Amino acid sequence: MTDDNNQLEITKRFRFEAHHKLPWHRGKCARDHGHSYVLEVSVTGPVKEDIPGVSDSGMVCDFYEISSVVKPIIEDYLDHHSLNDLMQNPTAENIVGWLVPVLNAALPGILSRVRLYETTDGWVEWRQTIESHEETVDD
Ligand SMILES: [Zn+2]
Repeated sequence: MTDDNNQLEITKRFRFEAHHKLPWHRGKCARDHGHSYVLEVSVTGPVKEDIPGVSDSGMVCDFYEISSVVKPIIEDYLDHHSLNDLMQNPTAENIVGWLVPVLNAALPGILSRVRLYETTDGWVEWRQTIESHEETVDD
């Protein structure tokens, strides 16, 4: 395909359970408690050309590649951890603030969205516009 706007965003969803408490919160979030977090990681890029025999043909990025980057981070720092070990005030906003540079380093130039659900009805989202890289062709 040679369409310059051939960019798509793909998303992989992950889940983890973690403890936290918000030390300065004036309500119940100051108490020890946990959440079943849902993390969505999106990448944006051009759909790769279909080439017979090439594994990621017709894809922006293999979902497996996103998993192989995100799962170890979840395992090492988030799942069944106390998020207060990671930061003093682990609000969903601060967790996303911690995650974005880590994920950006692992998925450079393609990370376009990080969404963290603290509950099913409440989430924080970070977004970055990914420029399409139009290839200049000399006529
Ligand atoms: Zn909480």
